[in-house]
Amino acid sequence: MSLFKYISPKTKDEVLEILQKEKSNACIVAGCSNVLPNIRDKEIKAKVLIDITNIEQLKGIYQKEDKIFLGPLTTINELIYSDITSKEYKVLTQAAQEFADPLVRNTATIGGNLVTASPAADIAIPLLTLDALIKIESTRDKREVKLKDFFVGPGETILQDDEMIVGIEFEQSDVNKNGYFIKIGQRKAMAISIATVAVNLEVRQNKINQIRIAAGSVAPTPVRLTGAESFLKNKEINDKLVEEAIDRVREEVKPISDIRASEEYRRYISGLLFKRAFKKLADSSIHQFTN
Ligand SMILES: Cc1cc2nc3c(=O)[nH]c(=O)nc-3n(C[C@H](O)[C@H](O)[C@H](O)COP(=O)(O)OP(=O)(O)OC[C@H]3O[C@@H](n4cnc5c(N)ncnc54)[C@H](O)[C@@H]3O)c2cc1C
Repeated sequence: MSLFKYISPKTKDEVLEILQKEKSNACIVAGCSNVLPNIRDKEIKAKVLIDITNIEQLKGIYQKEDKIFLGPLTTINELIYSDITSKEYKVLTQAAQEFADPLVRNTATIGGNLVTASPAADIAIPLLTLDALIKIESTRDKREVKLKDFFVGPGETILQDDEMIVGIEFEQSDVNKNGYFIKIGQRKAMAISIATVAVNLEVRQNKINQIRIAAGSVAPTPVRLTGAESFLKNKEINDKLVEEAIDRVREEVKPISDIRASEEYRRYISGLLFKRAFKKLADSSIHQFTN
């Protein structure tokens, strides 16, 4: 049986000091919903577990000037019950409602979801369409990275051994307030995504002023579909445009076949999920679709 040293610091600076000293011998623990199964499966080599759940600086959802700040310890449940997200940034709440079950949602955090870097990380998808910024710190540096540049490959991020996420931020803009998320899994609860799509849309005078599209479980990492976004930007919305955009989405995703679904199905369904999310948002701005 493996023995771990368990440390429960009270401040972010204490964590950074430990990370600087221990590097890959240390592992941050938040909600533990990924770390615990990984320990059981002997996938964690680190011998020092740093429990960050007592650090108040890393908690909370609040407005900060023209931005919304999310602490990395924000739980999935808090995304559902926070006034800020549930009233104004529903794309986050919708993703949280589709996440695991109430028990897991109560402990699992958004920081843990992002660092796990699973292609099926559900909260990464709305955060990508909100164009979120990840705030990263170590004892030697502070840096900010767009979420779309955070993932490197399945299970891999740009985080160095001595770095941690200290915050996630996005703008309080019109486009960010008009988002929609859809997940498809093998069952209605406790399902790993077969595919997820989120769209954030701003329409002005029937034209697409801003659009962001993200997808999960259809590429090695959660991805922004910037090709489809560029195709749609500044165009007038009509049925033909939407059909062409569906083709662009299906061309841009890079799915694989696994036990949950085939590559072909994932490609097909990502186009359909995009269409549903886009129409939901566009229909509330204009009313000229035929189906
Ligand atoms: C039964 C079950 C159902 C699940 N269902 C879903 C689902 O529907 N959708 C989904 O997306 N995921 C799901 N998951 C996966 C998991 O719950 C999520 O990825 C969760 O968000 C991880 O958060 P956590 O706080 O538990 O992370 P932890 O397990 O504590 O940590 C995960 C990783 O993140 C690192 N980490 C955590 N916080 C920080 C930080 N601030 N800075 C740097 N590194 C950090 C840890 O070192 C570790 O490497 C499920 C897991 C289980 C066990």
